[in-house]
Amino acid sequence: MKILILGVNGFIGNHLTERILSEEDWEVFGMDLADDKLGALLTNPRFHFVEGDITINHEWIAYHIRKCDVVLPLVAIATPATYVSDPLRVFELDFEANLDVIRKTVLYKKRLVFPSTSEVYGMCQEEAFDEETSLFVVGPINKQRWIYSCCKQLIDRIVYAYGLRDNLEYTLFRPFNFIGPKLDTIQEPKEGSARSVAQFISNILHTGEIKLVDGGQQHRCFTYVDDGIDALMRIIRNRDGCASRRIFNIGNPKNDVSVKVLAEKIVAAAKNYPKIADLAHRTKITSVPASAYYGESYQDTSRRVPSIKNAQQYLGWTPTTSLDNALKQTLDFYFA
Ligand code: UDP
Repeated sequence: MKILILGVNGFIGNHLTERILSEEDWEVFGMDLADDKLGALLTNPRFHFVEGDITINHEWIAYHIRKCDVVLPLVAIATPATYVSDPLRVFELDFEANLDVIRKTVLYKKRLVFPSTSEVYGMCQEEAFDEETSLFVVGPINKQRWIYSCCKQLIDRIVYAYGLRDNLEYTLFRPFNFIGPKLDTIQEPKEGSARSVAQFISNILHTGEIKLVDGGQQHRCFTYVDDGIDALMRIIRNRDGCASRRIFNIGNPKNDVSVKVLAEKIVAAAKNYPKIADLAHRTKITSVPASAYYGESYQDTSRRVPSIKNAQQYLGWTPTTSLDNALKQTLDFYFA
């Protein structure tokens, strides 16, 4: 099989490429702006990397969609701070640029595996979010945080419609707070440059202060990236068409914790690593209002729990990594 991964240097892209090359005999064609997370993969003869920008290199992309069997367009801005600071960039990249790739995938009749997001459920209050029945609940236009959710939701609807009208072979997957090594940079001290887990590690290293937005009472289900990649491998293998024209929540409902507990766990775990133990002991956990941290156009979701019955039933997938273990593996990667 030939797999095209756009955004191959990203968090999911680089972990997925590593797994594909080690478990399968497939070839991977990858494009990204940079290659710093790819390391030794770059010398693998079954990996073909090209540095490029999906908003510019249209011909390379069209050629490779024709050449490959499965297309994974993983290029997107997925950091909430950017949804509020630069919403139009989120629209142009996450929606417009990806729609172009999707249309070419339809044209050349290739299989599409596309990242939707747990953000589509927005502020849904249901106990566990269900791919077929849950409501999508977003805030007013002046709460610009929801532009990402809306972009992804509309793409999901477009992909679904292409499936019905043009027989597009697709799978949509919705990551629930994937965490692990190489999530976002931990070397950028600026707040909001990383998602929570990477941000908190960065805070220990650089500022000595973890700021909990509104006290960190919000809950998330943190999912270890290796578990997420297991699900993606099952989706790409698609045995007996088990993933065809389906949507899957990919998350770990057992790792449901408040952001405050997450921060406390990270600081406690960091104390076990001599390289950062002193910094961890000195780190304070404080609270800031959301408006002070993200500005007025942010609005948060208080909880986000996946139903994973589709993934269990059709993919035979259940996540196995506890939050403590996920944090340990992440910290081991940087500091062991
Ligand atoms: N958060 C926080 N402090 C930070 C960064 C994030 O309290 O320095 C909170 C954020 O407000 C949200 C949660 O942590 O409620 C998870 O944020 P993340 O950026 O990981 O992404 P989200 O789950 O909101 O998409």
